Amino acid sequence: MVCGYVENRDVYAVKCPECGGPLIPVSEVSKLVKSRDSSGVWVWSEALVTGSYKPKITIFEGNTPLIKPRILSTFLKIRRFFLKDESKNPTGVYIDRGSATLITTLRHFKFSEVIVASTGDLTISISAYAKQARMKVKTFMPSNVSLSKAYKAMLLTDSCRFVETYDEAVAKALKQELRGYQAAVLATNPYLMDGYKTIVYEVVNELSELDNKPNYIVVPIGDGVLLASIKQAFEDLKLGNVKFLGVKARRETPLLREIYVETPLFKDFIEGLRSSGKLEIVEVEEDEALEASELMIKKEGLMVGPVGSSCVASLTKALNYGEKALKEAVVVAVVTGDSLQDPYLMRALLERTLKPKEIPLLGFTKLKILEILAYEGPKHPYEIWKSLKVKHAIDISKRAVYQHLDELVESGLAVVKDYVKVSGRLRKVYGITDLGLKELK
Ligand SMILES: [Zn+2]
Repeated sequence: MVCGYVENRDVYAVKCPECGGPLIPVSEVSKLVKSRDSSGVWVWSEALVTGSYKPKITIFEGNTPLIKPRILSTFLKIRRFFLKDESKNPTGVYIDRGSATLITTLRHFKFSEVIVASTGDLTISISAYAKQARMKVKTFMPSNVSLSKAYKAMLLTDSCRFVETYDEAVAKALKQELRGYQAAVLATNPYLMDGYKTIVYEVVNELSELDNKPNYIVVPIGDGVLLASIKQAFEDLKLGNVKFLGVKARRETPLLREIYVETPLFKDFIEGLRSSGKLEIVEVEEDEALEASELMIKKEGLMVGPVGSSCVASLTKALNYGEKALKEAVVVAVVTGDSLQDPYLMRALLERTLKPKEIPLLGFTKLKILEILAYEGPKHPYEIWKSLKVKHAIDISKRAVYQHLDELVESGLAVVKDYVKVSGRLRKVYGITDLGLKELK
């Protein structure tokens, strides 16, 4: 409906049949009514496009805490400041709300298999909900996802392929020859967005009991999908005057990868909102996000990683820029990203406090390369590339393997052991070092 197209029939549609653009679910909500005999996001069935679909799949997503952090509030000098803690969803992310509405929709339209392209969280969440509906999940993910996400996805899905980039994952999922029972799902799927809107319904409902209305929302921009869903939910409730602070990472770093998107899928929507004066974008550095995490953990006792705490980091920045309206506003920051579960993340935070020498944070692919060198012995890059592809389902380019090896050597985890001649060319043979072996323990 970005172009104005409206679909009222009961059909499964993921993009506009006229312009090919994204579809945004729109509901007429004259009064927010909470249904008493439903669970999860379905208590808001009456305000959802998917509200009439059956059977309703849920694993008790939503109803997340709206926290009033007293120490942070004083620190930021924002009196009416709230955190909507989305890490308390079943798989630890707001996406669970959308997975409930999406999987219910796919069942309603008789699909039995989902093909997902994602950077991790979407795959994990959809797979968990698909189990409840006895549906199969196949996924394509970039191989630079964090270890915990890679393992969770491998445990939950029926097939998990790793490719080099997110764009490649999307291309692979879309290229699949789909049979009638299969659906390809990307982050922009409108039936996911329908569920995301319940964040707003909960916040508005809870604040109305305190005689408050939210008028400033802090939310990571990413692809713009969550932002668009939240904006539409406010429109549906006829609360169109809300302003947004959009948070994004300034550059791509291992810890902030999730909130760094070079070309957002909803680019036009984001630009439109920005030029209408309703969206302010703040870019956050990894160091600023880690500082905010430290603040939230050590002062408030909230176990929030850098992605989640980036909203607090962005508020600090916006206040410094002189965004005075914030101090008088009712500010709600949506805390996305899983709570502090990843050991690498915890180590990064600890290192800030303890300040020992820098230890590199290893991604999934580098760890697999070290594993290959440890268990299969020294190898040249082509053999490593082949082993990654055949034994570990990691489908990346040879160039990427060289890059990883360079970085492993640079950080002292691998070393060039020997040279061999392979089809007339001299090749380096890599082996693992003692430091590298320690990394695997
Ligand atoms: Zn259109």
